[in-house]
Amino acid sequence: MLNIDLHELQQHATPLYVYDLNLLRQTLQTAKTEAGKYNYHVHYALKANANAPILAEMLQHGFGADCVSGNEVKAALENGFGSEDVVFAGVGKSDAEINYALEQDIFCFNCESKQELEVLNELAEKKGKTARIALRINPNVNANTHKYITTGLEENKFGINAWELESVLELLAQLKSIELIGIHFHIGSQITDLTVFKNLCTRVNEFQDWFAARNIRLQHINVGGGLGVDYYHPEQQPIPDFAAYFGLFHQFLELKPGQQVHFELGRALVAQCGTLVSRVLYIKKGLSTNFAILDAGMTELIRPALYQSYHKIENLTSREPEERYDVVGPICESSDCFGKAVQLPETSRGDFIAISTAGAYGEVMASNYNLREKAKALYL
Ligand SMILES: *Cc1c(COP(=O)(O)O)cnc(C)c1O
Repeated sequence: MLNIDLHELQQHATPLYVYDLNLLRQTLQTAKTEAGKYNYHVHYALKANANAPILAEMLQHGFGADCVSGNEVKAALENGFGSEDVVFAGVGKSDAEINYALEQDIFCFNCESKQELEVLNELAEKKGKTARIALRINPNVNANTHKYITTGLEENKFGINAWELESVLELLAQLKSIELIGIHFHIGSQITDLTVFKNLCTRVNEFQDWFAARNIRLQHINVGGGLGVDYYHPEQQPIPDFAAYFGLFHQFLELKPGQQVHFELGRALVAQCGTLVSRVLYIKKGLSTNFAILDAGMTELIRPALYQSYHKIENLTSREPEERYDVVGPICESSDCFGKAVQLPETSRGDFIAISTAGAYGEVMASNYNLREKAKALYL
């Protein structure tokens, strides 16, 4: 349950994103300690949540930045991350984004196609620079997660497929303004079955052998992010099991001498610290259900509409016996629904409703559809 006094909440307009910075700090400290046991480098995936106070905590805990757009690179640098700690991935980097990242001398471009390598080489050459790159390889590992957040299958748009690697190496031999420093993988998000990561390790080991057989030294192995969180029991498991996660890579990833391992975590670091708080506008009797109509909708949190994802919903105000509600937003879309047949204490106009585990892919995906105002954020 959200750790906030209802009288304090009354002072604020809703919808409102509330962030528990204490929980965030505990989460980051745990991740840092567990990754530190094996000297692993963690880059925070800014796309999960790029609010300045969140980025400040990431920086304070020594994480680097994983960016997927030029503006994310810019946000990382403006919020104090060193350019040597910034990596930049994405299937569709524009010339302007590449030029900006080159000018800033970022640590590494994670490159996803031959065409991108050619463009990057040309732009780097014009600037008289050498771009450090890692090849993002599509390992064809099933992440067993929602299809929209599965990224490591051959049918997905991401990365370079295994059968293209030979020709990529031939191309790289001709590209003089590019330096290959590593390989990169990111197979999907909200992965809760750790055997998926074990399968990834097996594939990475195979790719390592492939490169070693061609006498190519890779200094950096980047295994991406994707560790899931418990949307069903946010209170029981507020901090993901980082010990098991990093321990698994330690057990199954075979490294060559001197190699550095990098991770790119987003959701696992920030999801649980964020809660979307809303007021109930109306209770409407339906044919077979009651609708609790909130002042928050898919414009504030699109995950249920986009991925049919579950978020725990609680009434912070009422102590009445429970009833069942379809909890919906005010947007003119039937997909604007946070949960169907949700058991809640009898709910009335003005009650506060908390939607948990909204710290990742919540505020960053907000839109102003229906010309809605952007929700404010409160940091506890
Ligand atoms: C989205 C993304 C991540 C972070 O994924 P999470 O599931 O939030 O950990 C990491 N790397 C890349 C390349 C990404 O696109």
